[in-house]
Amino acid sequence: MNLADKDKRYVWHPFTQMRDWNAAAPLIIERADGNELIDVDGRRYLDGISSLWVTLHGHRRRELDDAVRAQLDRVAHSTLLGLSNVPSIELAERLVAVAPRGLAKVFYSDSGSTAVEVALKIAFQYQRLRGRPEKGKFLALTEAYHGDTIGAVSVGGIDLFHEIFHPLLFHTLRIPPTLDALERALAEHAGELAALVVEPLVQGAAGMLLQPPGFLRGARELCTRHDVLLVCDEVATGFGRTGTLFACEQESVSPDLMCLAKGISGGYLPLAATLATDEIYAAFLGEHRDKRTFFHGHTYTGNPLACAAGLASLEIFARDRVLEKLPAKISRLAARLDEKLALLSHVLEIRRRGLMVGVELTRDRVNREPYAFEEAIGARVCMALRRHGVILRPLGPVIVMMPPLAITDGEIDRMVDATREAIIEVCGA
Ligand code: PMP
Repeated sequence: MNLADKDKRYVWHPFTQMRDWNAAAPLIIERADGNELIDVDGRRYLDGISSLWVTLHGHRRRELDDAVRAQLDRVAHSTLLGLSNVPSIELAERLVAVAPRGLAKVFYSDSGSTAVEVALKIAFQYQRLRGRPEKGKFLALTEAYHGDTIGAVSVGGIDLFHEIFHPLLFHTLRIPPTLDALERALAEHAGELAALVVEPLVQGAAGMLLQPPGFLRGARELCTRHDVLLVCDEVATGFGRTGTLFACEQESVSPDLMCLAKGISGGYLPLAATLATDEIYAAFLGEHRDKRTFFHGHTYTGNPLACAAGLASLEIFARDRVLEKLPAKISRLAARLDEKLALLSHVLEIRRRGLMVGVELTRDRVNREPYAFEEAIGARVCMALRRHGVILRPLGPVIVMMPPLAITDGEIDRMVDATREAIIEVCGA
């Protein structure tokens, strides 16, 4: 049996209709080089989605490889339950140094979903510990996506993914991202709310929906005024994707809890962190018998290899002045999108913030007629893109681009040109 046959025989792929998968030839990646992935036949593909929004500085980046190898020579894993380890301490110090002001403690886990679960449970327990047990509910945004575990799905709002699980979920209040709606919800429900959970600036998995400017800033003020915690899920937006290290910075916001994952290890290893303020942390202190402890922890929490990669990634940010180089890349991408895609007859809208882009396709631009779900238009365009040597992944009818921060000018042009060709091939001119 060849690899493709074995894949079909043994692997169940995430977010994938396996009947479709089994009917097609899988693209099997064997190695990578810079911003390109290379398949088992040696074909090269530009990784336009940073391997699902994680890779920052390119694949096989020497400094990251070296950091992981050096850590391998020390220890691959040791637990944070009852022990500590060197890279997890050093990374926590660095994260607190670069995070929005006020975030002072780092609770590690290993995926974006767990970072959100941790934030939800901390917020819930915090309200109990301070004598406000009635504040046990959460407020979230329509179309929110915070991961696939049950708590994260409970605050999520994408029906296609989440609807079937409704009987398993806890009740969450939901508002569109406008300050009016938030103000009304808080006026009515603040007394029962533990926290507002938001993806700051961009709702990624919803199809790169952009929040109105000022929403985040206003949300911070309203949450403070109504004594509701603000949880910012920077799993997708964190580590430079929106042009600043964290999206919160663009509206000078410090959340009470911040969720990090994806890019935190430079895209190398599963790692996540939930950052909390000293005030929240202090509420959990007490005698053993008081049971104020946060009884939560995953086996690989604070894994030394992943933390070593995270440290090396932050060093690259500082040494290579990665953030200072972003505005030129962001402008180039914006200009190419405007020039090559914006006027295509099947492009409804291009939404972008930093290097996060959503290109929404439409059957008919004049009447804004959507493609039917069954047409899987985004998936077909992305399959066509592979023939042009570019990997992108759609969210419904939205073609998502989220290239590594290390993408070059030439690669930006290649990604946009190929997308134009693929859209024309599949949708017509
Ligand atoms: N939050 C946000 C904003 C995300 O975009 C994602 C993943 N796309 C998650 C949480 C969940 O992360 P993970 O897939 O690592 O569990």
